[in-house]
Parts: sequence; C-alpha cells; structure tokens
Amino acid sequence: MIVMKFGGTSVEGAENLRRVAEIILVHRKRRPIVVVSAMAGITDLLLAAAHGAAARRDHELERKLRAFHNRHAHVISAAIADSKTRTRLLALTDQFAEELTRILMGMSFLGEATPRALDAVVSFGERLLVEILAGILNECGLKAKALNAQRFILTDDRFGAATPLKDLTYRKCRRAILPLVKRGIVPVITGFLSSTREGVPTTLGRGGSDYSAALIGAAIGAREIWIYTDVDGIMTADPKVVPEGRSLAELSYREVAELAYFGARVVHPKTVFPAIERGIPILIKNTFNPAFPGTRIVPRTTPSNPIVKAITSIGHLTLVTVEGAGLLGVPEITARVFDTLAREGINVLLISQASSQQSICFVVQQKDAERVRRALEDEFARERRQGDISQIEKQNGVAIVAAVGEGMRGTPGVAGRLFSALGREGINIIAIAQGSSERNISFVVSERDRASAVRALHKEFIR
Ligand code: ASP
Ligand code: MG
Repeated sequence: MIVMKFGGTSVEGAENLRRVAEIILVHRKRRPIVVVSAMAGITDLLLAAAHGAAARRDHELERKLRAFHNRHAHVISAAIADSKTRTRLLALTDQFAEELTRILMGMSFLGEATPRALDAVVSFGERLLVEILAGILNECGLKAKALNAQRFILTDDRFGAATPLKDLTYRKCRRAILPLVKRGIVPVITGFLSSTREGVPTTLGRGGSDYSAALIGAAIGAREIWIYTDVDGIMTADPKVVPEGRSLAELSYREVAELAYFGARVVHPKTVFPAIERGIPILIKNTFNPAFPGTRIVPRTTPSNPIVKAITSIGHLTLVTVEGAGLLGVPEITARVFDTLAREGINVLLISQASSQQSICFVVQQKDAERVRRALEDEFARERRQGDISQIEKQNGVAIVAAVGEGMRGTPGVAGRLFSALGREGINIIAIAQGSSERNISFVVSERDRASAVRALHKEFIR
C-alpha cells in the first residue's frame, strides 16, 4: 500500500483533477490510498467568508458562497461525463452550499467567528472535493470511495491546530481503510480534517493535509507516502531567490523537519513525525512532471552528501529583546517570558541568549509582535518599575535565514565559512542560533539582506 496526497494547484480545475486520476491509475497495482485537500484558494475563500459573516458584511458573503458553489459545479460539469453521477454531485454541491449558508448566517447573527466555527466552515472544501475525485476515478474504471477523515482522525479540541489522539486514530484509520483496500477499492480521504471524540469538527492546521497523509500512512503501515506538489521536490533554495537552485534527490527526516519549519513550504512540518516512528519513506513528487523521481525523505542519508543541503529563509518577522540586570541568575524570568508567550499562543521561531544573561531575544511573526510586547509589559510591570528589566524592545522587518544539513554535525569550520561568506557580502547579523542537533545554523538579518544572504550561502556551500 502507498499513500498518495494531492492538494492545492494539483487538484485545481477539471483538467488537473483528470491528471491526478491518471497518476493514481498508473499506480493502481501498488494499492493506493488517496488523500486530498481542497482546491487552491478554497480554504482561504471559506475563511474569508466566515470572517465576513462575523463582521456582518452580507453582500460579500453571498458572493463568496456563490464562488464556492460555482467553482465546484463547474469542475463537476467539466470532469464528469456520466449524467447520473453528475446530477448526484451537483446536488451534493447545492446541499453543502446550503449547509454552509446556514452556518455562516449563524455566525453573522452572533457576530463572531470562533475557532470552533471556523473549523466547521473550512471542512466543506475537502468534503466536497473527495466526492468529486472519487467520481472521476470511478469513471476511469477504478473503484473508489470518498471518506471523511472526521470519522477516524480524532484529536483534542484545540480548534484550528488540533493534536491527534494517536492510538485511537491509528486504530480507527485501520478499521475504516483496510477493508476497502482489501476489496480493491481506492479510498479517497479528506486531508486536514479531524474531529474530537465527541464528533465536533477540528482541523490539523493550515497545510495539514500532508500531516493527514503521514498519519494515515503510519496507521496502516504504508510502504511509502507520496506527497504531490507543483514543483520537482524540495529545492536547495527558493528558485525565485536563487535561479540555479535545484531539486534534492534525498533528505533525512531531520533535515526536512528543519527545512519545513523554516519556510520551505513544500511539506507541512509535522508530516515527518508519524513517518519517523514507522520508518516510512516520504516522496515529494510533481503532479505536473510525474516521471521525475522527486525528493526522497528517508531515516538516514548517505554520508557522501554535501555538508549543507539547503538554504532557507522566512521573513516578516520581529525580534523581541527583553533586557536588564534583573535577568542575571534569575531563572524564573526566562520561564515567565516563555510562559507568557505560551499563554498567548505565540509561535516562537528562534531563541538566543548570551551567557552574560543580561538579555534574551527571540523571534516571532510580525503580526504577533505587538500582542507579545503588550503581554510582556503586563507580565513584567513590577520588574519594569523597579528597573530590573530595563527594556522590552521589538525590531520589525527582520528575517531568519537557515543553513540545513546533516553533514554539519561534528564538521568543524562550517560556521566560520558561513559567517565569512556573509561578511564578504557586507551582511550584518543581528542574532544567531544553532541547535545542539547541529543540523541547522540559523541567524537573523534585516529583511533587506534576506535574499543576498540566501544567495551568498548557496554559492558558498552548494554551487
Ligand atoms: N486546505 C487546507 C489549507 O489550505 C489544507 C491543506 O491544504 O493541506 O490549509
Ligand atoms: Mg500544502
């Protein structure tokens, strides 16, 4: 068995859906289990509709609902030849659009978009598309059945980014999927969707379909997990920044986890964890170039690999610095800083503290920065008055650049080369962090220097 995941641009429109069906057909002997996310732009559209409803912008709401309905109806009319199937799918589209309308009207009435309601709203994109793809596969002569993963991927109730209850989910996955596979049926499963044990809809977070595919792969003991995207696998650097960047043949789980976290948006960062547990290889393949082998993600890479595999970066960030003599030898301050961030649900991308212990700095997304500053001012009001903390400062417009590679472990001189290369380009480094895993050296630069830093390091280590 293999898991094949398609999403976004790969499933956008009738032509691409037919292309996807053909790819599945070619690999039918491998007993594929298919995971799909919504068409490109649909999740964004549904979220915008929900926020519009909560803000009572009714005219906009109608337009968004019509767009949701029409985009799917259009695909159904173009991709499904059999009139009975077509009628059934069009009726389902009507029904889903009506259900959505009712939920959105409820939100408009209450004037609020809770995370719980948002998870219910976004589910319609995936729920509708699995039915459509299953219909197309049936027309291609493949027995296929649409499945809603809300039935078997069960999570806690952190709406918007829920955590799966692993053992229960694995058991339920096997029970829902394996009998179908045994009967020669291709399950077509909603990515990204899940629910609480009580059946309240949750989601695994934006881009979470990759993670769904990995969870399902681990649950059923798939031989491989194939994630289809619209590029030739994982690249040495963003080709928009480094035109000579190329696709990587092989990466380790650890390397890909570092890359995914730092903005190489090919695969959701959590995807590797279920795969690691069972040692299942993940392949990143291109829907629009299916013959290309793509990138293979495996437990360990061959030692002959280059020291630094890829350079990645993430922008629109803010560096926050908490500074003062009161930090010296007072461990509670650090604990309280990160407690405060956790309470606010802030994602911290990088942390650095010098051994002088006079200041601690960390990087967050720019959109969260003001909330972070206010929460810290609140938390440390007393220390601020007493002068133990002299300032809580934020610096907008920064980026993190990271060099990633398993070969960096225990290889002396990598940091030296890295910083020399940046120095030659006159790039100023604001903060530095290297995890003790030694697979990643990350540093903070001004957004202005981001692209030249990536290019300088690519030239130094890769090309
Ligand atoms: N459709 C969802 C999203 O846009 C899940 C995914 O694409 O993986 O975030
Ligand atoms: Mg994705």
